[in-house]
Parts: sequence; C-alpha cells; structure tokens
Amino acid sequence: MREPRSQAVFATERLQECALPSRFGILPVVHNLIRPPLFRITVTLSAIALLIAARSYVSTAQLPQKPAAPIAAPPFPVAQLPAAPQPINLSVIVLDPAHGGTDPGARGAQGIRESDLLLDLTVQVRRALEAQGFQVLQTRAGNEGPSFDDRSTLANAQRGALFVTLHISSTGIPGTVRGYVSPDAPAATIGTMLSWDHAQNPYAGLSRKFGDAVQGLLAQRFKGSPNNAQTASIRQLRTTAAPAIAVELSSVSVQDRSELDQMMPGVADAIARGVAAFRPSYVLPTEVSSQR
Ligand SMILES: [Zn+2]
Repeated sequence: MREPRSQAVFATERLQECALPSRFGILPVVHNLIRPPLFRITVTLSAIALLIAARSYVSTAQLPQKPAAPIAAPPFPVAQLPAAPQPINLSVIVLDPAHGGTDPGARGAQGIRESDLLLDLTVQVRRALEAQGFQVLQTRAGNEGPSFDDRSTLANAQRGALFVTLHISSTGIPGTVRGYVSPDAPAATIGTMLSWDHAQNPYAGLSRKFGDAVQGLLAQRFKGSPNNAQTASIRQLRTTAAPAIAVELSSVSVQDRSELDQMMPGVADAIARGVAAFRPSYVLPTEVSSQR
C-alpha cells in the first residue's frame, strides 16, 4: 500500500523531473527561466556588454595617465655613467731641507753649515706657505739625515703634492738665488710602470712651470738671479713623483751669516707666492687608459 505522498516529497520529485542532466541541473526554476528564446538573447547580450565593459576597463588602465605632479629630473644621469676620475688638487707642499745627519752640506767661513741654515730657511718658507693656507710637510725638522729615497717617499706618498728641496751653495754670486728643475724627459703618464729613478719624468713639464713661477719672483727680489728656472740633473728630484724644484741660495762663502739670514724672508715669500701662482696650473697628467 502506497503511503500518500506528502506535498514536500512531491515537490522534490517535480524538481527532479524538471532537472536537466547537464549544466543547468541545479535549479529547474533557472532552467525554466532561461528556456524562453527572448531571455536567452537578453542573457547573451548582457554577457557581450560585460565583456566590452571589461575590455574597456583594461584599455583604460593601459592608457597613459595624466602626471599627478612633475617629477624633478636629476641634474645629471650619475647612475648611468661610469665614475669620472676625480681631479687631484694641490693639497700639500713637501719642503726638503737638504743634507743633515752626518752630511753638513756646504761649509763656509765662521763654521757656517748649509744643513743648519737650511732648517732656519725651511721654517720661514713653511710659515709663508701656511700663511697662504697651504699644508706643509718637512722631510726633516732637525739634524736627522734621511736618505734621498726617504725624502722622495714622503712626497710620493702624498696626493696632490709639490716638492721643494732647499740648498745653499758654496759658489755663485752672493745674494742671488736659482731654481732648478730636472731636464725634460720623454713623455710619460702617471700610472705607467716607471722605475723609481724616473719618477719625475711625467711631471717634468709641470716642474718647469712651477720653477719658472718661483724663479720669476726670485729674480725680481734678488738682482743678478736668472729669470727662469735652470735645468740640472739633481738626484733628489729624479725620484720624486710630483712637480718638484730645487732652490739654491748663494752662498755659504759670505763672511757673515746674517747676509744669508736677511735673504730668507724674501726667498720664503717668493716660494709661497710662486706656489700660489702655480696652483691653477696644477693639473696632473692622468693615466691614458683611464681616459678611454
Ligand atoms: Zn746642498
């Protein structure tokens, strides 16, 4: 005997009968709604409209946007360029009172010793340079006797140095002063392999310019002095990797050392002003490979 079906069971069976076997099998109500052709067309058109709207949205997103605010461009494209070699500026003057230790240098009347006088001269040159704002180093400050190489090593260890070695000769017209530079050498550039003995070669041109600047001022003050720097093969200059000159006063043959003492302020002033005049020309020759 069949039990009378409840309304609920009946409703379920009706739903199962109406259910489509495929993609519309969830709710027969939906199926019934979709079945009319007019509604299918409506759904299709709605889908197309949605697709167009989505495409339009994407296209809009890809359009260039108005800039919100101008972005300041960097003044120059630093990050994209290889680092340019930094210029080396003149920063220190190395003063070399020659001789010292067991080497008194030239000796004159009344026991005048070149090595002693040079310490006094160096102090005055140093003060004149420092008054111009230059940093000064000395190869010796007392009666030490550093070697030629020790003195060059001090100068060669500096970045942006000038080198001045000081002498008082036993010859020459008393009251005159001469600047010396190394002979011009075959062109060479910093950074190429040079023997220690040829360290001055790349700087020969600058040394001459520096020497002429100082000598021109010395000639104005000490009559009878040459107008330009002289050329001489001087051991101390050869091994110095910086613009370098020798300055030599005449002479220890004076009867009274006060004659030399009186020259010192003028020599110091000429050197300091010569350094200042030369400073704008202090453009070191750079390694060729670094410019390519
Ligand atoms: Zn000397």
